[in-house]
Amino acid sequence: MIIRTKTKVALWASLSMLIGCTPQTESTQTRQQKEIQITNTPNDPVNGRVAGPGGGVIMQAFYWDVPSGGTWWNTVKGKITAWDNTGISAIWLPPSSKAQNGPFSMGYDPFDYYDFGSYNQMGSTETRFGSKSELQSLISTAHSKNIQVYADIVINHNSGGSSESNPYTGSSTYTKFTPLSGKFSRSYSDFHPNNIHSSDEGSFGGYPDLCHAQTHVQDWLWNRTDAMGKYYKSTMGYDGWRFDYVKGFGAWVVQNWVNNNGGFAVGENWDGNAGNLQSWVNGTGRTSSAFDFACYYAMDAAFDNNDLNHLNDDMLWKRDPYKAVTFVTNHDTDIIYDGKLNAYAYILTHEGYPCIFYRDYEEWLDKAKMDNLIWIHRNLAVGNTTLLYVDNDEYVARRNGSPGLIVYFNNSTSWQERWIQTNWTSTGIHDYTGQSGWWPTTQSDKWVKIQAPPKSYSVWSPNGL
Ligand code: ZN
Ligand code: ZN
Ligand code: ZN
Ligand code: ZN
Repeated sequence: MIIRTKTKVALWASLSMLIGCTPQTESTQTRQQKEIQITNTPNDPVNGRVAGPGGGVIMQAFYWDVPSGGTWWNTVKGKITAWDNTGISAIWLPPSSKAQNGPFSMGYDPFDYYDFGSYNQMGSTETRFGSKSELQSLISTAHSKNIQVYADIVINHNSGGSSESNPYTGSSTYTKFTPLSGKFSRSYSDFHPNNIHSSDEGSFGGYPDLCHAQTHVQDWLWNRTDAMGKYYKSTMGYDGWRFDYVKGFGAWVVQNWVNNNGGFAVGENWDGNAGNLQSWVNGTGRTSSAFDFACYYAMDAAFDNNDLNHLNDDMLWKRDPYKAVTFVTNHDTDIIYDGKLNAYAYILTHEGYPCIFYRDYEEWLDKAKMDNLIWIHRNLAVGNTTLLYVDNDEYVARRNGSPGLIVYFNNSTSWQERWIQTNWTSTGIHDYTGQSGWWPTTQSDKWVKIQAPPKSYSVWSPNGL
């Protein structure tokens, strides 16, 4: 639907007739959120390095089947300076300890949680990604640029155990783990079924399913002074956690981990229902964020399947902006083909803590445009959100902080223009993506006409920032 009107009154009148509902200038959810105090400004990059609206940006620093041979940690280390320069404030690394498939594993089949490439087991000394000292060097290099490092924590299941006789199953199970690190040896009672549970919320791929209610397991996850979380923080230098497959165990596990080990946390709760994501975050005692899969699927419907109305869908960031990690692609799923850059423009101009996928940034998308969007996120995308307009091929939203922005998506094949209300009185503005050549001045009543290029977006904010 394309509407062109000369006055704002006619605009709302025609809109309301055409879409058959009351035009909303502000979504109900965002209206209820109180104005968010934002500390980052162009002159204050350090305070901007936090999770949350207008804060930092995560780089997912791997993809499925990165080159093997123990070089990946050094490859990532070589990117740190450039990533720091563009505004990346945290990196998420793949599971970094020794797994069953040794030098070939991407790490999601964990065997020895304390072998980061120091012990010759599972077919190699180094992991697929490198040695322990190379990992520590990568982490310290990131820290030298004030970039945080998040560990990928796989604690639903284990892999690579030896066979043992298991009284709880009456059979032999591969549940005997005697890692060469000497830390966190496990046997059948640490897995399901055992004396406590026959199962928990979920298992994965038939792998032995860890029982987090077992005292021995809790000791090694968070209680001991050399428990995993404490060791990963103090010895390895990790700052936070990405929890793999959290549907496989109770949210209380993440809560206990974070309460005992500290650090930023985000859970992979692969669920497109924003309410379910919100319930999981609340279930962790609000100690953890969640990846915003609701936003992910809505963006696919909006940008890849050509109906921007889906940007009106329920999403975690709209409910809980400080607990939503927004993303466009990850190592498991990549469904937004057409309009992928638009999807990045969406997550980098809206609330939530955006996560950029390595290949999108380094290989697949226009890096200059990604850098521009990261700059916009760090410098303009502050405050809560007001939806100004949406239909199938146009969407306009306003961030209400200072300086704030107006983002305008156009999914049609020709330039579009629209009168919208800003927060700026008699102020010169322009498109910080550089695509529009307009430099309009807002009226005394804050209204202004802006435009957006075909199949793309524009981002407006006062001149001179
Ligand atoms: Zn339209
Ligand atoms: Zn259990
Ligand atoms: Zn489980
Ligand atoms: Zn798609």
